[in-house]
Amino acid sequence: MSESNQEYIVISGARENNLKNVSLRIPKRQITIFTGVSGSGKSSIVFDTIAAESTRLLNENFSLFVRNFLPRYPQPDTDAIENLSMAVIVDQKRLGGGSHSTMGTITDISPILRLLFSRVGQPYVGQVNLFSFNDPQGMCPECNGIGRRLGIDMSKAVDMSKSLHEGAIILPDYSVNGWDWNMIVQSGSFDPDKKLSEYSEEDLEQLLYGKARKVKMDFAGKATNITVEGVIEKFTNKYIKQDVKMKSERTQRAVAPFISEGPCSSCHGARLSQAALNCRINGLNIADLSSMEVGQLIRAIREIDDPVAAPVVKSLTERLQHLVDIGLDYLTLDRETDTLSGGESQRVKMVKHLSGSLVDVTYIFDEPSVGLHPRDVHRLNELLQKLRDKGNTVIVVEHDPDVIKLADHIVDVGPHAGSRGGTIVYEGSFQGLLEAGTLTGTHMKRPLQLKHDCRQPSGKLSIKDATLHNLRNVSVDIPTGVLTAVTGVAGSGKSTLINEVFLSHHPDAIVIDQSAVGVSTRSNPATYTGIMDDVRKAFASANKVGQGLFSFNSKGACENCQGLGVVYTDLAFLDSVKLPCEVCGGRRFKDEVLAYKLNGKSIAEVLEMTVEQALDFFQLKEVVRKLQAMSDVGLNYITLGQPLSTLSGGECQRIKLASELHKKGSIYVMDEPTTGLHMSDIGHLLEIMNRLVDAGNTVIVIEHNLDVISQADWIIDIGPDGGSKGGQVVFEGTPVQIIHAEQSITGRYLK
Ligand code: ADP
Ligand code: ADP
Ligand code: ZN
Ligand code: ZN
Repeated sequence: MSESNQEYIVISGARENNLKNVSLRIPKRQITIFTGVSGSGKSSIVFDTIAAESTRLLNENFSLFVRNFLPRYPQPDTDAIENLSMAVIVDQKRLGGGSHSTMGTITDISPILRLLFSRVGQPYVGQVNLFSFNDPQGMCPECNGIGRRLGIDMSKAVDMSKSLHEGAIILPDYSVNGWDWNMIVQSGSFDPDKKLSEYSEEDLEQLLYGKARKVKMDFAGKATNITVEGVIEKFTNKYIKQDVKMKSERTQRAVAPFISEGPCSSCHGARLSQAALNCRINGLNIADLSSMEVGQLIRAIREIDDPVAAPVVKSLTERLQHLVDIGLDYLTLDRETDTLSGGESQRVKMVKHLSGSLVDVTYIFDEPSVGLHPRDVHRLNELLQKLRDKGNTVIVVEHDPDVIKLADHIVDVGPHAGSRGGTIVYEGSFQGLLEAGTLTGTHMKRPLQLKHDCRQPSGKLSIKDATLHNLRNVSVDIPTGVLTAVTGVAGSGKSTLINEVFLSHHPDAIVIDQSAVGVSTRSNPATYTGIMDDVRKAFASANKVGQGLFSFNSKGACENCQGLGVVYTDLAFLDSVKLPCEVCGGRRFKDEVLAYKLNGKSIAEVLEMTVEQALDFFQLKEVVRKLQAMSDVGLNYITLGQPLSTLSGGECQRIKLASELHKKGSIYVMDEPTTGLHMSDIGHLLEIMNRLVDAGNTVIVIEHNLDVISQADWIIDIGPDGGSKGGQVVFEGTPVQIIHAEQSITGRYLK
């Protein structure tokens, strides 16, 4: 290997997904940005080749003994990858973790804050753990450190006017003849035909709040000892004393209607014991500081001028400054991480890495500009540069021109999506890209067009005096029958206003967001859009067999992978890994099912078709309509059988859009639909939004993308800034008007 090659990560002959024997060099300790239309193959290079190989190498470091317990990571389909350092992937997956995971815990800032209180807090209480709500010594004993006290809404849990036989217990698990219902009735302690309102005080107490006790019962002729517990007591132990956020989504949904929630009456939401809360610095306790916005907190910390505290103050302000730098100054340390958006989650993860001292790491980012207003993009750029200057290699997949400009090196993948992509169409400097004549280069040079002929609204939907989160008595009219863009810097209150306040008054609105779609790992574009049903019928009638054979839930599907073709394995410390199914070799169905053909293709072959190929193959009217809708939203390149769990947030959003396209007279709410879209795809998206509006729908879109904002009929700008400095409507009007609005930051960037 030549000396100069060591300065590059060298990839030769990459063939994952649509890649056509791609070879490239990525300069080490520089920022390389991958560009290109959606589906061109950026992720196939960056995630499926580079990151996958790094994970595999990491795995090889384990001893043979440990490796026996780990799945075998297949080598990415490539001839060679050289000079790869350890890769850290900073993606947009939301941060979970339940009520005990907060901004403060995830960024490791809370432990330092606790250290500060244990050193200089008054009165002196010693012990660092006393300040942790995750530690039994520190947590408020009433709420176990959750800060909220949950209660049961009794009026919803039981119906006193009914008997047990009539279904007096409405709580889940107690349906008549259900398991828990049987326990209660067969215990013999309660009269199942008496209305609860007629129970004696003592019996009612026993039925609802009785402590667990053993009762002898007759089960299938055998005397058995069974534990019987009061209905409310059991529900409380199961769902209220434990963090319900850690249960499955289905369970959470089932129990939610019965749970009422309020701040804990002992700690008032501070989560800590009284001893911890009595300890103060400059009159403030640790909960006061944790509930301050980071921007304000950093000032409060700087005011502590005790020499004993100096080193701790220094390390705290350093970390807090990282949060300010990345535009998260409006968040508080006590904010639960599972309420953060995807973009916010990614930026929080980024901060964690900035504070660490790793060098010679390859950092991989997936569209880090998501959720950022054009005003704040430069902050992101500075952080990427800091990571580079510490001696790391930074690889970014990005569509935002303002981030692309920053690249030391650009790799433009294309020319189009899917089988019409998979090659590198340009490599080099940003200046060179502008002259290269590729789709990316051409679009970078195009000037912004402001919409002049804005539509007239057909009516309005009013929001009155909204005050949730940071909103300050916001009253605003949303025009109907037009395309409205809701804009403003991150944290200004856009999602609060639209996704929470507006949607709670208009629950019938069609929400098209980036949250994951699909209920099971077997969901794919064909099942989600309903194409699979039509395809099954077609296979059944062509072969004169039952359609059940062609379902993933049937006996026809491979039993080992349940028709997935791959097997997912969850690992404790790493993301789940996907391995090809060893039984069917990825073909998903049993051999006898694969023998049935439709126009010469097996069901497995149909599921391997891209939307584009399927459009050529099928003539069925319903199937063609659904395929065309997917093609219209720019998903030509995805295959019908690709698991929905492998789609990006932006792709999930567009597949939802595709399945809702045919409605009329509806309200559509979209949250940053340009995520994952190349500049050349945005024109396409705008066409679809315009088509929806022309069909009589109202479209409301939360956006940072200037191409979309400039083409809206109406703009509602929230601000002026984030968090407590936002929460007001600073502008309402047309694109031409906003560029003259002094108070609007968005207006300045449109100009
Ligand atoms: P980009 O990142 O540029 O949007 P991708 O690398 O995700 O593009 O996709 C390139 C091509 O590979 C597309 O045709 C896509 O459908 C296909 N592809 C991506 N991931 C998978 C997968 N897990 N299984 C099958 N095909 C995939
Ligand atoms: P935007 O959508 O403009 O980025 P958000 O509506 O998400 O802004 O946030 C507005 C303000 O409300 C911010 O200060 C944010 O921290 C706060 N906020 C948003 N969601 C929550 C939540 N679930 N709990 C507490 N505060 C929240
Ligand atoms: Zn409490
Ligand atoms: Zn299988």
